[in-house]
Amino acid sequence: MTARAYIALGSNQGDRQAYLADALAVLGSLPGVNRVSQRPTYETDPVGGHAGQGRFLNAVAQVSTDLSAKQLLDELNKIEADHGRDRSAEPSRSGPRTLDLDILFFGDEVINQVGLTVPHPRMHQRWFVLKPLCDLAPDAVHPVLHRTVRELLAELETPAT
Ligand code: ADP
Ligand code: MG
Repeated sequence: MTARAYIALGSNQGDRQAYLADALAVLGSLPGVNRVSQRPTYETDPVGGHAGQGRFLNAVAQVSTDLSAKQLLDELNKIEADHGRDRSAEPSRSGPRTLDLDILFFGDEVINQVGLTVPHPRMHQRWFVLKPLCDLAPDAVHPVLHRTVRELLAELETPAT
């Protein structure tokens, strides 16, 4: 079965543009992954984490894949490791990283396993995810929150009253 998945890419260390471009190329070359498309990249300030870390480049890619979500995550973790990401050297989540690859949506699957939560649990709080995702798939519906990506982004951009 072929699923359409959305993957967030982020980098704030080293040659960020090259890391993202390379990750996309590798992603497209994986057996079982087809039709990678991606929209413009955004430069954003780090959210949380330690002061003084560099700005991120963020992008979202759409893929169509015959892999399962878990198989896709394993491949993403390999790509991260091959691109210099050393999780053991990271002080915490939200720390600096050469390359971060997250599964946002995997079809309309809802997955709650150890090590894999889909939709990504923090995606709806993150402008740097929703903005590039909205460029690709504004009408995609979050299968837990039952809102479109466009609506989630609008909520995030509208200050609470
Ligand atoms: P974050 O991306 O939230 O800043 P990390 O990249 O350090 O955090 O990821 C920590 C762990 O999150 C990974 O080892 C992975 O197993 C897990 N994880 C759970 N759900 C997902 C998902 N949807 N996409 C990517 N990683 C996920
Ligand atoms: Mg991650």
